[in-house]
Amino acid sequence: MKGEIQLVQLNYKKKHIKKHWSTRTGLKLLRVQAGIDHWTANFGASAEGHYKYFDETLPNQNDKERAAARREGRKEYIRYASAHIFVDRYKALELVPLDEVCFGANERKAGPLLSTLRATHSQYPGGNANLLCIHIEMCVEPDGTIHPDTVKRTALVHQYLQKLFPQLKDTYNRFVRHFDVTGKNCPAPMVKDPSMYKYLLDMTAGEIEINPIVKPQQKEENEVIKMAVVVYSDADLSVGYDLANEKKCGLYNRKSLANEALKINELMVVGGPMEGLEKKTNRVIDLSGTDRWDTRKKVIHYLGK
Ligand SMILES: [Zn+2]
Repeated sequence: MKGEIQLVQLNYKKKHIKKHWSTRTGLKLLRVQAGIDHWTANFGASAEGHYKYFDETLPNQNDKERAAARREGRKEYIRYASAHIFVDRYKALELVPLDEVCFGANERKAGPLLSTLRATHSQYPGGNANLLCIHIEMCVEPDGTIHPDTVKRTALVHQYLQKLFPQLKDTYNRFVRHFDVTGKNCPAPMVKDPSMYKYLLDMTAGEIEINPIVKPQQKEENEVIKMAVVVYSDADLSVGYDLANEKKCGLYNRKSLANEALKINELMVVGGPMEGLEKKTNRVIDLSGTDRWDTRKKVIHYLGK
């Protein structure tokens, strides 16, 4: 498998959680106005893990809390929470049908920061983005990062949603961070570094390829140049420079010449042996002397001075 490029696939599965008053009420969205991106803030928990949490753990916890609060005659502490789609490194899991309301972004009492997402309903007075939005949760790695494959898959989820809801094709206006809606630090890595979110949206919009195929670099045809000077060491640099200047051509040292995809018609060699240079040139002009002074003498003679 070494060297094989793993392509990120959408791998979209539906596994709906049961209806419950604190997670999935079954209330229908008024319309789909936007997609809201989140992170789960739940380090190391997968999409499947969240299915279990929202299908079972949280409803049970809330039922118990409600019963206990009533029994004890105190205020109840309920966590209303849910999201439509959970994305991790391996799959995208739809927990709630996309035409239903989820509890994802309504913690701001004054209503959403974006006026386009301020919806009212008899059950939710005051404006509530949840009535208009599909919530997408990015799962988090054990170290608190969002895996690149999760980010890529989220872009694929965006594109999937854009096919279902063409109004979402206006990527940069129709996908927003939870942070943009209520000011919550979510998805935290993309609040801290907004360019990470832009990267996600650029992939959604097709500006950046989600699965770039790495092509083997094509061998370029050797560029042919008329003439050049090559020096052997720094000792010859000064005279090599003068020669190149006089002939109005390029100056290379041995190493830089070896690394260039060049073919040189006429190569003036200033210092050092001729071995290995025949591959680079059709004609060697040997100006190397026994030492730097001798080399300089040869160059001056060559220039006819
Ligand atoms: Zn959030």
